Amino acid sequence: MNVNQSVPPVPSFGQPQPVYPGYHQSSYGGQSGSTAPTIPYGAYNGPVPGYQQTPPQGMSRAPPSSGAPPASTAQAPCGQAAYGQFGQGDVQNGPSSTVQMQRLPGSQPFGSPLAPVGNQPAVLQPYGPPPTSAQVTAQLSGMQISGAVAPAPPSSGLGYGPPTSLASASGSFPNSGLYGSYPQGQAPPLSQAQGHPGIQTPQRSAPSQASGFTPPASGGPRLPSMTGPLLPGQSFGGPSVSQPNHVSSPPPQALPPGTQMTGPLGPLPPMHSPQQPGYQPQQNGSFGPARGPQPNYGSPYPAAPTFGSQSGPQPLPPKRLDPDAIPSPIQVIEDDRNNRGTEPFVTGVRGQVPPLVTTNFLVKDQGNASPRYIRCTSYNIPCTSDMAKQAQVPLAAVIKPLARLPPEEASPYVVDHGESGPLRCNRCKAYMCPFMQFIEGGRRFQCCFCSCINDVPPQYFQHLDHTGKRVDAYDRPELSLGSYEFLATVDYCKNNKFPSPPAFIFMIDVSYNAIRTGLVRLLCEELKSLLDFLPREGGAEESAIRVGFVTYNKVLHFYNVKSSLAQPQMMVVSDVADMFVPLLDGFLVNVNESRAVITSLLDQIPEMFADTRETETVFVPVIQAGMEALKAAECAGKLFLFHTSLPIAEAPGKLKNRDDRKLINTDKEKTLFQPQTGAYQTLAKECVAQGCCVDLFLFPNQYVDVATLSVVPQLTGGSVYKYACFQVENDQERFLSDLRRDVQKVVGFDAVMRVRTSTGIRAVDFFGAFYMSNTTDVELAGLDGDKTVTVEFKHDDRLNEESGALLQCALLYTSCAGQRRLRIHNLALNCCTQLADLYRNCETDTLINYMAKFAYRGVLNSPVKAVRDTLITQCAQILACYRKNCASPSSAGQLILPECMKLLPVYLNCVLKSDVLQPGAEITTDDRAYVRQLVTSMDVAETNVFFYPRLLPLTKSPIESTTEPPAVRASEERLSNGDMYLLENGLNLFLWVGASVQQGVVQSLFSVSSFSQITSGLSVLPVLDNPLSKKVRGLIDSLRAQRSRYMKLIVVKQEDKLEMLFKHFLVEDKSLSGGASYVDFLCHMHKEIRQLLS
Ligand SMILES: [Zn+2]
Repeated sequence: MNVNQSVPPVPSFGQPQPVYPGYHQSSYGGQSGSTAPTIPYGAYNGPVPGYQQTPPQGMSRAPPSSGAPPASTAQAPCGQAAYGQFGQGDVQNGPSSTVQMQRLPGSQPFGSPLAPVGNQPAVLQPYGPPPTSAQVTAQLSGMQISGAVAPAPPSSGLGYGPPTSLASASGSFPNSGLYGSYPQGQAPPLSQAQGHPGIQTPQRSAPSQASGFTPPASGGPRLPSMTGPLLPGQSFGGPSVSQPNHVSSPPPQALPPGTQMTGPLGPLPPMHSPQQPGYQPQQNGSFGPARGPQPNYGSPYPAAPTFGSQSGPQPLPPKRLDPDAIPSPIQVIEDDRNNRGTEPFVTGVRGQVPPLVTTNFLVKDQGNASPRYIRCTSYNIPCTSDMAKQAQVPLAAVIKPLARLPPEEASPYVVDHGESGPLRCNRCKAYMCPFMQFIEGGRRFQCCFCSCINDVPPQYFQHLDHTGKRVDAYDRPELSLGSYEFLATVDYCKNNKFPSPPAFIFMIDVSYNAIRTGLVRLLCEELKSLLDFLPREGGAEESAIRVGFVTYNKVLHFYNVKSSLAQPQMMVVSDVADMFVPLLDGFLVNVNESRAVITSLLDQIPEMFADTRETETVFVPVIQAGMEALKAAECAGKLFLFHTSLPIAEAPGKLKNRDDRKLINTDKEKTLFQPQTGAYQTLAKECVAQGCCVDLFLFPNQYVDVATLSVVPQLTGGSVYKYACFQVENDQERFLSDLRRDVQKVVGFDAVMRVRTSTGIRAVDFFGAFYMSNTTDVELAGLDGDKTVTVEFKHDDRLNEESGALLQCALLYTSCAGQRRLRIHNLALNCCTQLADLYRNCETDTLINYMAKFAYRGVLNSPVKAVRDTLITQCAQILACYRKNCASPSSAGQLILPECMKLLPVYLNCVLKSDVLQPGAEITTDDRAYVRQLVTSMDVAETNVFFYPRLLPLTKSPIESTTEPPAVRASEERLSNGDMYLLENGLNLFLWVGASVQQGVVQSLFSVSSFSQITSGLSVLPVLDNPLSKKVRGLIDSLRAQRSRYMKLIVVKQEDKLEMLFKHFLVEDKSLSGGASYVDFLCHMHKEIRQLLS
């Protein structure tokens, strides 16, 4: 079979092209789109600017003026919360906790007359505002004293490592909230027992105490730089690729004394030499064409190498091996943009490596799935498992089945085969695709996955042309395209019944903290307008999605918002141990029909609970209730949970504070990532069965056990968002932006994904936010356009160079309008008998995505150090195999990297020193758990920028330039104190201001007259009418638009306390937590490789 055939550029299908109105990155819909009934994924209701940006009235009431416990006045400013964004998760297959959910007896610890008695938990309370409010308050105050809570941990529980760690030299570490250190005294006094010591003055561990890769000790300090001549024959790969990269150091004996690159390394020297007190001039990387001199630099860079590939290999005199002599991510990204960003990527040819994720390019589907849907670690896989084992290159695909597409690209066509349904192979059940081979004049087809010969049903018969191709091939998406959809028949539906449209249930924590911060009022106000923007399908006038509302603290309040009611009705369920839904009719409603009642409810909720003193919450019963409500309504759906605290109230899933930083670097560290009880997994399983996806918005003031609370969102394909120390004035924009995006997201519900492969390989492992009850089916209660599943493949037989290898990802899901569909993505890969072909067709960004997810799952079960060592060993084996089998013979002193993998060491080092694998003293247990689960469903572009942040100089490019300034490498050396930089990693956004920035620039951007007057930690730039201000604010907007979560800005001044946080993201430098610098890691990697080769 030849899958290499070229395909006419524009298939002409008989059906109108779906416009996919909802899929535009920048503006959510707005277009009316095609009216074809089969349009997948609905338009959103209108342009995003339709949002009311004005804060809801009455917001200033946020801290309750009456009844607020005194401690609330003691709250410390929380500052910015980083890691407060992004939230998907993994824990697929469920971590191995075996604790079973324990149903507690239906205790009712409070004696409110309204509290149901015995088995009558629900109380119907029609209310006008006054009575209910009073009743609820009465209930709440009656419960105040139920203070059986977990004892506070010893104050050392949040300690910062062994006492030998360095005292913080800079006095107190700024409580920026970035690492989630919580202020003391936020909780009212009655709940102090659950409080945790705040973090006042974190100490930093001495680097040597962090285990992991530490450079071998040597006698003295390492010299400021390692020197060594570049050897002849090395070729610094320019754009034309496929040249190995030689980062060389000479054989030891040839080195000048003390300059040995391959020898043991000592501690790093100070960052700046005395001669260069400021910052070294910026260099935009090495390798490839040399960049011209940068404008505005004080002096020419003394030893800037010009490794132009144009000039070919050239011997260079001995020189300092500065960081410019090692592969630069910036240069690689820029080369790819220049070389591959101009032409569309056409998918007709098997085994083509797509442009990098950092390159803007268009895709033309000519038979293989777009790289927006599937990216592979290699596009040429070894024919045998022996070869694969030798190379150690993981064979994996990162799949984003519902990926959003740019407006220029068509969304998948929808094919309707009527009652017969999609055509499949009888044996392996693969779906009809362009690689199926029609034979016997078109009466049969041979399956490209299992070789089974199948009959073609009469209604699908078509004649073949002289090449053996069906004459209608280009009229049928499933015969000519890489991606398309089938309408599913009733056979593909649960209980053989077509699904109902899904529902959204908003579940709002109304305990003291949620009220005090102004969250409840803000949220209710926002929902009034946001409900007009629920996802719609195609040309539908209104969303088919129904909505419901629940509020809760340690009891649940359901609301009847039936359109015929004059006022909403509340029903209280206090028997949280045996959760059920007290009403069916009137709970899930159409927004337009019930608009008046809903608006009334949203107006009343903040008032009803304004004086609450209830601080305890439940969690599991809330999700249980939402899931039961969906079950009763016989539909799939999504729960939006807005939650503030560790659920310590007596109920299933009750948690205790088990935060213990002393476990870091011990064998028990893994428990910090594992859920505390099995109740959450049990619940998640039930949710998946019901198609109930859970999105969790967390607003913690202290430890909430993210590792446990995020289990249900992770296993149901949902998202977690975290806003530590939420305050309306500081965090409103970020929260509302995330919420709007999340609510409007197109979601596939009740989904099952299966990845089929041609004979010889098979999918063996899966990473992402989903549940698996068997070894092949990835179950997703919900799946949105951001969620990614990474799949690993292994050989189970020999592959064939001629036929290549095929992947087919089939996603069965229910659309927002309740239509059952199958989305199919196909991808053909090459197979090789020479290892060099494998290395020539690798995609390092995808490899890193896989390796990071592998490691982040590994910490659930293995000591973190063991996980790091595994990654280092694997990387060394990959590179050693290349050196041994593919590189031309050369001195052992040379480090030779495959062109496609020359960034593997720098990127892998970033993974190794990330907060999950090598935590600094500042990061909390919750933030580690949060980041861990975020990464596990990130796509390749997200992991790329997350591990290697973008650093953009602001005043170097001409002010009139509209394009993004070229990035510089993430190292302090690249910072000029006369410039400003934006740094972003998809979660965090910093504006770093050098101490010597011109006064005029400071004035233009901050509206103050000097550097010293700039407020450190500022999160909003003043809106000023000058070109620089407009440009920088425009750039910030543009960066935010590129990311799936809102990045809050933090202004950092050079030499300011906050700079410590910023430097954490300069990933080429040695980190405070002991992470190696890029140069050191490369040397270490070189040593490992040499050991493997010797
Ligand atoms: Zn088959």
